[in-house]
Amino acid sequence: MKILIVEDELRTADYLSKGLTEQGCTVDMAHNGIDGQHLALTHDYDVIVLDVMLPGQDGFSVLRELRAVKQTPVIMLTARDRVEDRIKGLHEGADDYLIKPFSFLELLARLQALNRRGRKQEPMQLRIADLQIDLLARKASRAGTRIDLTAKEFALLAVLARRQGEILSKTAIAELVWDMNFDSNTNVVEVAIKRLRDKIDLPFGTRLLHTIRGMGYVMEVREEREVREVRDVREVRDAPGEGPAT
Ligand code: CA
Repeated sequence: MKILIVEDELRTADYLSKGLTEQGCTVDMAHNGIDGQHLALTHDYDVIVLDVMLPGQDGFSVLRELRAVKQTPVIMLTARDRVEDRIKGLHEGADDYLIKPFSFLELLARLQALNRRGRKQEPMQLRIADLQIDLLARKASRAGTRIDLTAKEFALLAVLARRQGEILSKTAIAELVWDMNFDSNTNVVEVAIKRLRDKIDLPFGTRLLHTIRGMGYVMEVREEREVREVRDVREVRDAPGEGPAT
């Protein structure tokens, strides 16, 4: 589980971060509303733990900005004597709340419940043109032909396919697929993209995984624009002289 903790009380934030990391979660922290909002909008978290009383920008404001674009599950942390805060939070789109002080185990149980709920809403089958992806069985096929993928190749395909039509930078892909920052070594992403392309696109004629020069990669069905992309695509391909797909 990838979790964002937005909490200005450093001791609480550190305690939560330590506990969740021990549980195998990946944790990012922000100690004010502005940083919290920035992280929440620019990264994909499974759940966000959001304190109400924050310097800079309060939790409600962060939640409102987030809900305008994303449905990441949010647990709000509220003070015991602020019943109206809980109601307000739920109205603004919070998924759950905890009253301070709370037990770590209760927070963990609620995070797990929200994470499960979030995953259930996700479609288990994705389809892009004749490419079919079964996220539950972790299988992919194109034009009825089964495609054998390694675990990482499947994870990469799922990340791109879930966000079809959306350009993903190498850094974003590195973070989503490998769960780490590859700023200095985005070559790992290039190599993985090439391998995936060789399996899902090359044998089938029509390209679905496109390179956007200087920006990243996008998975989508294209028609007229195909020719324009050929030059860019070639640059990351190892096989020179490879013509455009028809
Ligand atoms: Ca606070």
